[in-house]
Amino acid sequence: MRLIEHDGKALLASAGIAIPRGMLVEAAAPPREAPWPAAMVKAQLLAGGRGKRGLVRRAEAGALADAIGQVAAALHPAAPPLLIEEAVAIEAEYYMALRIDDVRQCVSLLLSARGGIEVEAAPEAVRSLSIDPRRGLFAQDVLPLAAAAGIPLRQQGAVARLASDLYRLFTRADATLIEINPLGLVSGRGLVALDAKVVLDDAAAFRHPGRAALRSAAIERADAPQREGDAASQGFTFVELDGPVALLTGGAGLGMSILDMLGDAGVPAANFVDAPGGGGAEGFLRRGRMVFDLAARNPSVKAIGMYQTLGASSLGGTVKGLLALLDEYPPPKPLVVGFAAAGAAEREMTMAEATRLVAARGYVAVTELGDFVEALRRVVQG
Ligand code: GDP
Ligand code: MN
Repeated sequence: MRLIEHDGKALLASAGIAIPRGMLVEAAAPPREAPWPAAMVKAQLLAGGRGKRGLVRRAEAGALADAIGQVAAALHPAAPPLLIEEAVAIEAEYYMALRIDDVRQCVSLLLSARGGIEVEAAPEAVRSLSIDPRRGLFAQDVLPLAAAAGIPLRQQGAVARLASDLYRLFTRADATLIEINPLGLVSGRGLVALDAKVVLDDAAAFRHPGRAALRSAAIERADAPQREGDAASQGFTFVELDGPVALLTGGAGLGMSILDMLGDAGVPAANFVDAPGGGGAEGFLRRGRMVFDLAARNPSVKAIGMYQTLGASSLGGTVKGLLALLDEYPPPKPLVVGFAAAGAAEREMTMAEATRLVAARGYVAVTELGDFVEALRRVVQG
């Protein structure tokens, strides 16, 4: 199963790899402006080479609607979601990938200092390393490769650490391919994954029960023309699973990581829910009610977990929506709430204020993903 860029990036972010702030939107309901001085508009379809097809465009302040219109026109009649991201100042574009090498029967790391569209023009600049699964991939293993691939000395350490983190993610997620092209060297920010191509191993799907939902969601959303009344265009996917934790998460990549973490902690999820673009306050209430209904009617559900990461959308708005949901519809089982917000999201309300407000209503509120999983484990296992 191949993930759309947005979900692939969320998976990278779950491993601590930097990605640009961004949001997934439907072209039919575009935002009027982006919360950044300049933005990138990127079509979320599974095909590559979008840059060359006019499906990746930069929009200066005030010109977001035009850029969205141009991308939508180039896509017509298909209407996949669009990723709107902050545009960043790129100093260099590298190429990094992990893939399964069928011939050598191992995972190999590919690296080049000439990323972006140059990779195709300069395949000879790509260097590769076979990884011994018993050893794994340590940063120091990557340093000679980084040097051979022409990565400047000052960036070699960061590139090597990122490769090591990426390998851990690759094995944890049962991926068959993770390609970051370009891996941008961004002024003031270091290495940032500017694109993500992630393919997960369908044969390992039994270890990741949420993926059945992802497959249909990713394919329908990415490749089907949008139809009114269609499940995909209604804005979310909801699949019931067998575990004790009813779950409301934002973003398929993150949701999938949380499913894995709960499974590893021995308290798997009771459902998977994904809403491309968030679906606004209205959508949040609807999904919240579905999750609470499941918790109420299913006796094996022992706890409810809600985890949201916010980059662009306001934490204040999300907390208001959450409190409205809790007032109108009290959770039928113990609730654990987690937030991770950064940058613009904290303008109206900080994470500390958000956790205080939620805790004041008597619910557990945390800000770290690890604490979130641990709190749910304690509730379920007593
Ligand atoms: P692909 O053509 O489908 O692989 O799409 P990419 O996501 O790789 O985007 C194509 C190109 O857009 C990249 O090689 C970058 O040069 C450029 N790009 C992507 N994100 C940014 C950004 O935030 N700022 C700038 N200036 N360029 C970007
Ligand atoms: Mn790319």
